[in-house]
Amino acid sequence: MRERTGDPGILGRLHVKTHGELLGLVDARLRALGVRGSSGEGLLLSGLEAVYSTVSRELEVLVEVAELVEGLPLFFRELYRMYVGEEPADTARGFRRLLRIARRIYLEHRDAIRRPGGSPREAFRSGVGRLLSLYKRKARVIGLVKKYVAEVSGMPDVSGDYRVVIAGVPQVGKSTLLSKLTRARPVIGSYPFTTRNIIVGHIDVDEAGRIVLIDSPGILDTPLEEKNIVEKRAVLALKHLADHLLFVIDANPSFYYSLEEQLRVLETARRLVEGKPVTLVVNKVDSLPKELVEEVVESVESKTGLKPIPVSALLGVNLDFLREELVKAFRAGSQRPL
Ligand code: GDP
Repeated sequence: MRERTGDPGILGRLHVKTHGELLGLVDARLRALGVRGSSGEGLLLSGLEAVYSTVSRELEVLVEVAELVEGLPLFFRELYRMYVGEEPADTARGFRRLLRIARRIYLEHRDAIRRPGGSPREAFRSGVGRLLSLYKRKARVIGLVKKYVAEVSGMPDVSGDYRVVIAGVPQVGKSTLLSKLTRARPVIGSYPFTTRNIIVGHIDVDEAGRIVLIDSPGILDTPLEEKNIVEKRAVLALKHLADHLLFVIDANPSFYYSLEEQLRVLETARRLVEGKPVTLVVNKVDSLPKELVEEVVESVESKTGLKPIPVSALLGVNLDFLREELVKAFRAGSQRPL
């Protein structure tokens, strides 16, 4: 049984509110209760209770989000750390502390409203102000958590028993290959904190489980140095996602990128998934003379130490063999859950 779910979609049902949204909610609740400038003690007590319960509920949502992220695979926790700037466990701890403080503020001010000879109106206002400022104090982190939830819950489900990340320069045939290797139609979603898409397809391996193929155009096809810091970290987080790298090469001499350039991108991608198995593919063999394919295969092998598999994604040449190689690697790999 798997303990963790790889599906960040579970976060999607939680709605983190900004400070502004919380103010709107509190205002509406006080209006509904009829709390006004001249309200009596009973109404002020109900009003304070309403504000306290509203603020607490929102703080609880934040604790719940952080706890859910803590239970997600390392990839998502890494994205959280790099985006929110702290560990989800620290976020959860911080908001649990605020919940305790909120309770204290509520009880103190409730007593002050009830105190004979006191100033209930003043006590009410001060209590509401302090409760709201607890939330405001954390507005920055709350905004980041909200954005994280929005970004990550929009990502396709990448959970599976073995995750193969596809890389290669643009136009080599990655997405064609992904759609031909996987039966079902690939799912397209966004890759968090980048402007990129992520495409996910599956290969079912009888009862052994399923291989997930992940292609993210623009992610592993340009040097990391050309990316901004958030994007760079989002790409680096991929190393926690990948069990296997499938690198696609276009050997056509007239192709926009030379073989050398493609092999440089391979080196970047290989460093990223250090220690994980790598499969090289020379694609578009249908458009090349047999001798040239052999020449390229030999040249790539001598430069990389890896024997590439010649395929044609478009015509389906050698794809059964490639699929079998991936299945073999999956069976050989330590089947770790995401
Ligand atoms: P990506 O940018 O790496 O995802 O590449 P695409 O899958 O979008 O393919 C780029 C172009 O190469 C498209 O026009 C494909 O039809 C073409 N292509 C992909 N695979 C093959 C192949 O095996 N043979 C030939 N001749 N063209 C291919």
